[in-house]
Amino acid sequence: MKNIAVVGAGFSGAVIARELGKAGYRVSVFDARPHIAGNCHTERDAETGVMVHAYGPHIFHTSNEKVWNYIRQFDEFMPFVNRVKAISKGRVFSLPINLLTINQFFGKTFNPKEAEAFLASIGDQSIAAPQTFEEQALKFVGKDLYEAFFRGYTTKQWGMHPSELPASILKRLPVRFNYDDNYYASTFQGMPKNGYTYIVERILDHPNVTVQLNTRFERAMAPGYAHVFYSGPIDAWFNYSEGRLGYRTLDFVTERHTGDYQGNAVINYCDEEVPWTRISEHKHFSPWESHEKTLIFKEYSRYCEERDTPYYPIRLAKEKSQLKSYIELAKGEKNMTFVGRLGTYRYLDMHVTIAEALDAAERFLELDPAGGVMPAFAVDPLG
Ligand code: UDP
Repeated sequence: MKNIAVVGAGFSGAVIARELGKAGYRVSVFDARPHIAGNCHTERDAETGVMVHAYGPHIFHTSNEKVWNYIRQFDEFMPFVNRVKAISKGRVFSLPINLLTINQFFGKTFNPKEAEAFLASIGDQSIAAPQTFEEQALKFVGKDLYEAFFRGYTTKQWGMHPSELPASILKRLPVRFNYDDNYYASTFQGMPKNGYTYIVERILDHPNVTVQLNTRFERAMAPGYAHVFYSGPIDAWFNYSEGRLGYRTLDFVTERHTGDYQGNAVINYCDEEVPWTRISEHKHFSPWESHEKTLIFKEYSRYCEERDTPYYPIRLAKEKSQLKSYIELAKGEKNMTFVGRLGTYRYLDMHVTIAEALDAAERFLELDPAGGVMPAFAVDPLG
């Protein structure tokens, strides 16, 4: 039996560990934190009984049927659709921008065609190929909607003006010319009945897989394993020799109340003057449960310092050039593959993480028995 090390017990690490364990490898999983499931970790709050997304809201959605079938082996998924509300200048709107948002914001009764023509008329059509977040917004939704929903929120979320950020960040959000207020365009969406930590626990529950928490995987430990799958921060593995890769981190200020605090799971606060970006009320992520008390997170975004938990990779020109150097270093490592959000320094939704982990495991299981060598990356971190 070959020994394999998997660093990190989030979705990446857990899925790879299970697939290799199933194939007959002896897999040791290490995580520096005292719990599994990484930033997807959920736990029940003792005081309110509410299932808390300890590192902020995680809503499972995917159009990948293979991933949807895979994840549902480990827990029942309950119906949940993320319908976000946004507060801007004293008024509440529906997000992502849809026909209701447009009609309410402009005091109109447009039908889909009229709304589309209207947005085209207020959009800045002199911008041919938008490069920045701001250009993308000005072209497709115009100045008023940009200033109401995106400028303040994005400045708070990224600590930068939208003119310094890439258009790709805004492209994550759709603009709809109908009344569909589902935040995601995915085919499948839902919430695990018992939370994400339960799912990861079940994924890791295999006789060939062992988990060591509170354990940092050190370079000196690597020679004991035929291969290492590393889902920790790529810069940390190389002792930050090329400088620290920039991340945004989040602070959550918890409040407990009685009854229903805000009537919805997520409300975004788009005005720059309000210091938090959004408030999440966690019992609304489990609408099949009932709780008298409630727990909310006020979410604040800031630059990730040394001891903070990294969330969003910044990935501007400077970070990308550092990343290039780390990629070269990674390619020089023997028998090691860098995976996941932190291992490849990319923004990854849970379903993408799982799909990539399944692919990485599959690739290893083809290569290794044939004497092939698994490369440092199963995906292109710059892609
Ligand atoms: N965004 C915004 N206003 C909003 C919601 C999102 O300006 O009310 C911008 C912001 O820059 C954010 C990006 O759109 O980073 C993508 O939003 P998404 O909801 O996907 O962010 P996440 O849930 O990953 O934090």
